[in-house]
Amino acid sequence: MHQERRRAFITAVAIAAPILATAAVQLAATLAAWLLRAREAALRRQLPYIVSLAVGVLLATALLHLLPEAIDQLGNRRLTWALTGGAMVALFAAERLFFVISGTGAEPEVGEPCAEHHHQHTPQGAKPAALILASMLHSFVDGAAVAVAFLTSPRIGWLTALAIALHEIPHRMGDFALLVHLKVPLPRALRLTLYAGLPSFLGLAAVLFAGAHSASTIAWLLPISAGSFLYIATVNLLPELERESRLSRVLLQLTCLTAGAGLVVLVGNLGG
Ligand SMILES: [Zn+2]
Repeated sequence: MHQERRRAFITAVAIAAPILATAAVQLAATLAAWLLRAREAALRRQLPYIVSLAVGVLLATALLHLLPEAIDQLGNRRLTWALTGGAMVALFAAERLFFVISGTGAEPEVGEPCAEHHHQHTPQGAKPAALILASMLHSFVDGAAVAVAFLTSPRIGWLTALAIALHEIPHRMGDFALLVHLKVPLPRALRLTLYAGLPSFLGLAAVLFAGAHSASTIAWLLPISAGSFLYIATVNLLPELERESRLSRVLLQLTCLTAGAGLVVLVGNLGG
C-alpha cells in the first residue's frame, strides 16, 4: 500500500513538472510581450542577445542531450538521423506552405526597428489571425518537446523548457510588435499573444497521453524534437543576428551564444 502511494506520488510529480515548466514558459513569454509595450526601445536592444543565448541553448540541448539520448535508446541507425533531418524539412515545408497560403511568416522579425525599412520586414499582407495561427502551430510543437524531454529525464526536461523560453520570449515579442504594427488594439494584441501559447498545453497533453500508453513511442520523438531545435536555431534565429554590423555587438552576441551552450554543458554535468 505504501509502495503504491509512493508510485502514485512519483507519477503525479512526473506529470506536474512538464505542466509547470510549460506554464512558466508561456507566462514569461506573454509577460515579456506585455513589457515590450512600456519600454519598447530598451527591450528591442536586448533582443539580439536573448536570441543569441537561445541559439546556444537550443544547439547544445539538441546536440549534447536530445540526440545522444535518442541514440542511447534507439541505436545509431539511419532512421534516427532520418527523423532528425525529416523534422527539419517538415518544419521548413510547413512554414513555407503557410507563408504562401496565408501571406504571413511563422517567426516574425524581432531585430531592431528601422522606421523606413519596416514595411520590407513585415510580411506583405500579414493578417493577425494567420500570424497567431502560425504561432499556435509552433507552440504545439514546443509543448510536445517539453513533454518528450521530461519523460526522458527531468534534467533534459528543464533544459528543454529553458531552450523554449529563451526563443519564445523574442518570438512572442515579435508577434506582439507586429500585431501593434498592424494596428490591432493593445488589449486584443495581448490577448492574441496569450492565445498563441495555449496550444503548447495540447502538445504537452498529447505526448503525456501517448507516453502513458506506450513508453517506447517517446524515444522516437527525441530525434524529431532535436531536429526542430536545430531548425529553430539555424533557420529562424541565426539569420536575425546576421544584420548586426557593429563589431562590439557581434562580439557580445557571440559571447551570449557561447554562454548559452556553456550553460547547457554546466547543467548537463551537474550530478554526473
Ligand atoms: Zn518555440
